[in-house]
This record gives sequence, structure tokens and C-alpha cells, in this order.
Amino acid sequence: MLQNIPRKIFDLGHIPHLPVYDIIPHMEKSNTISAWLKPTRLRLLVQWGFLAFCLFLGVQFGLFVQHYESFGATPSYIRPPGVEGFLPIGALVSLKYWLTSGRIDPIHPAALVLFLTFLALALLTRKSFCSWICPVGTLEESFWKLGKRLFGRNFKVWQWLDIPLRGVKYLLLAFFLKLILLDMPAAALQGFLAAPYWAVADVKMLHFFTSLSALSLGVIGLLALLSLFFKNAWCRYLCPYGALLGLFSYLSPLRITRDQHQCIDCGKCSTVCPALLEVHRKRQVLSPECTGCLTCVSHCPAPGALDMKVVWWRQPLPGWVFGLVVLAIFAGGVGSGMLSGHWETSLTHQDFQRLIPLAQRLGH
Ligand code: SF4
Ligand code: SF4
Repeated sequence: MLQNIPRKIFDLGHIPHLPVYDIIPHMEKSNTISAWLKPTRLRLLVQWGFLAFCLFLGVQFGLFVQHYESFGATPSYIRPPGVEGFLPIGALVSLKYWLTSGRIDPIHPAALVLFLTFLALALLTRKSFCSWICPVGTLEESFWKLGKRLFGRNFKVWQWLDIPLRGVKYLLLAFFLKLILLDMPAAALQGFLAAPYWAVADVKMLHFFTSLSALSLGVIGLLALLSLFFKNAWCRYLCPYGALLGLFSYLSPLRITRDQHQCIDCGKCSTVCPALLEVHRKRQVLSPECTGCLTCVSHCPAPGALDMKVVWWRQPLPGWVFGLVVLAIFAGGVGSGMLSGHWETSLTHQDFQRLIPLAQRLGH
């Protein structure tokens, strides 16, 4: 009879239902460096760093635009090419142009560089863009955490509704992929990339955020409200960018891996997973919803039970190494764009003088 009792009950290394950080609180608190290297903390640091950087870019770009809109009455600022990361649809057009002509659009080259960088991130490190870099993901996460504080918990959409709703982002993605990658002829591609509208697409994006219409404000307010109740409502149901990255992440060699012999079946990993995945039932998490946030790893009380691993390597990848890999891929992508001369726009001061004051009136 005794041999039928699971080995883990006798294993003193596994004390069920007691997180290791509860067992050794003083060790944990006294070691500040290791505390900050804890995956969740490190990720929060990176996330908020990127959000602050995006705000900085936004302000700098706003001042740059203001200089031209005021016809030189305000000081001039350098244009930050990083704002082109907010032009994903144009980047998709640019991607097709590159694939079909071999040339990189010189008007907003950083849009393509960043787009390719984020695809590379998904290929190598799952949907880490969503949980480590994307400012929308950061805001969403802070909303549902706030909601959890306010209401004591987050809510779950009924499964019969959740599954079809999750499909909406793939439908939106399919719409854009078909419209641009399949249906857009070469002449239309060149026309789009040569048009004044594309030249000021970044300025129009700025105006969208600085002069929100009542409708846009209502939609953003509704999404923020939904995010208070439901974890990552926008990312989970509507974001076509995340859907695309999720599909690429299928090919990633990195995945959350559960060791059934070390696992004590506490289910904590599934309870805390922001993507609502049943981690404790899987040997490897392959879902395109997994963002590589490492929240499950951070909360797992059984050492060695749950880790991010490279598929062909038995050793776990520490959270801080995973974070460094994410940052290195991002820096490598941006650095390659800069060094190869595909980062700064080819638009000149005269172009900006002519086009920026007209941006509000330029249509599609
Ligand atoms: S499985 Fe783990 S890494 Fe993936 S989304 Fe869930 S908590 Fe994050
Ligand atoms: S892998 Fe999940 S179920 Fe297993 S011990 Fe860790 S948190 Fe608990």
C-alpha cells in the first residue's frame, strides 16, 4: 500500500501549500538583489521603464510637431523615430513592399524595423512583447490589478462566450492580412508609401491621442472599465497585433515547462496566470495566449516544478536571463536598424515645414 503513495509526500523538499517565500521570508527580504531579480519584479521594472520611455518619446514628438505647426514660433526638437512603433498597419504595408521589391520604405523605416523586431521577439521568446514591452499591456495589467484590489477578485467571462470572443482578434488580424498582404497590388503599395498621408501618419497618430473625439474617448473608457473586471480584456479579445505575435510564438523554442515529479499540484500557477491558462494541467505551455510573463514561475512554491526552458535544454532559464534576452533582442533589432541606415526618416526639414501644418486636413 505504501508504494502507492506519491513520492512527493515523503520529499521534505516539497512542503505542500506553503510558498517558499513564506517559509524563508527573512532570507528573501534580506537579499535585495535577488528580490529585484524575481521575474515579476524585474518585468514590472522593464514594463514601466518602457511606458515611461514611450511617454518621453510622445512628449518629444509633440514638441517637434508643435514647432512646425506654430511655423517656428516654438523651439525646435529632434524627431524621435521610435514613435513609428505606433504605426503597425503602415508597417505591414511596408513589410509587403520590402518583401516584393527588396527595398525598405525610407519615409518611416523605423516602423518596419520595430515591427520585425517584435516578430523576432515572438519567434524567440513567445509573446513577451505583450507582457514586457507594450505600453497598452502595462496599462491593462495595472487596471485589472486595481480591479482586483477594488472588488477582491477579477471576473471570468463564461467559457461559451470566452472562446468565440478570443477569436475576434484573429478575425481582425485576418482582415488586415488579407487587405494588405493579399489584396493590395504593387501600384497601390507604392502609392500609399509615397502619399503625403503616410508621411504624416505619425503626426495624425499624435493628433488622435491629443484631440480624442467623444467616440474615441468613450471606446477607450469602456475598454479601461472592462479591464478593471476582466484580465487583459483588450489583449485577450481584440488586439490583432497580439494575435499575430501569438501565432509566431508557436515556433518559439522557449516555453513554460512543468516537471510532474516536482509539482505538488497546488494549482497556484493556473490561479495567477493572467492569460487564464491551466498551467498545472500541462507539461509545456504552448498556447499562443502565453505572454512569457513568468507570473506562474514566480508563484510556484515547489522548486524545480515550473520553469521557462529552452525546448532542447534541460536547464531552466532564470527569469532575469529571460528578461535580458528580451531586452537584447529589442536592442539588437533597433541597433541593426540604426547601423544599417534604416532608422531615420528621409523627410527633410522642408518636407516637415510643408506637410505638418497640413496634417489635419490630409485624408486617406
Ligand atoms: S503560462 Fe505563465 S508565463 Fe504564460 S501567460 Fe501564464 S503566467 Fe504568464
Ligand atoms: S507547477 Fe503549478 S501546480 Fe505545480 S507546484 Fe508549481 S504552482 Fe503548483
